[in-house]
Amino acid sequence: TARIGVLALQGDVREHLQALTSLGATGVPVRRPEELDQLDGIIIPGGESTTIDKLSRIFGLREPLIAALRSGLPAYGSCAGMIMLADRILDGVDDQQTFGGLDITVRRNAFGRQLDSFEADIPLDLGDDHDRPFHAVFIRAPWVEKVGSTVTVLGRVPHQHDTTGEGAIVAVRQDNLLATSFHPEVADDLRLHAYFLRMCSG
Ligand code: GLN
Repeated sequence: TARIGVLALQGDVREHLQALTSLGATGVPVRRPEELDQLDGIIIPGGESTTIDKLSRIFGLREPLIAALRSGLPAYGSCAGMIMLADRILDGVDDQQTFGGLDITVRRNAFGRQLDSFEADIPLDLGDDHDRPFHAVFIRAPWVEKVGSTVTVLGRVPHQHDTTGEGAIVAVRQDNLLATSFHPEVADDLRLHAYFLRMCSG
């Protein structure tokens, strides 16, 4: 069975562990550098990216995690986790930094005050079962404002949820890195975690 870490510094760690268990994988909470060893993949949960950034330094995880990501460890970031995987942030706080790797520019809290939190059924291009929309829960979510040429867009919000009116990008993949603006772990739909497990096994 796949051993998948969940970065357990802050955020909705337990929900991701439960989703992994439901799919028959072994979920491993990661708080120390040694716990990065022998993982088949890692999830960076939602929460608060500024806090995850700070705690990752305090726990000595920042550099080893960056090294693991660069050497190809599959990673999935949701919401704050998407921010942590992004190469560039807009509306970040002061000296906030990310782990990076994904050639995207994210805007924090992008949907604005009125749309702080919302839910939407969105089409996702996950390779199978893509006819059925994904019930996506957004909580003070970022969106992806720019993508590099090697990034695949997997999903956008319907345009009525996007202040630009164009349907902002909310799910992306680049090689070993997957990220969504929304929180699949709080919805009763395991397709994104299943997609990530396929990335981890191949
Ligand atoms: N707004 C948070 C941040 O900037 C993300 C919110 C979330 O993960 N639900 O990190």
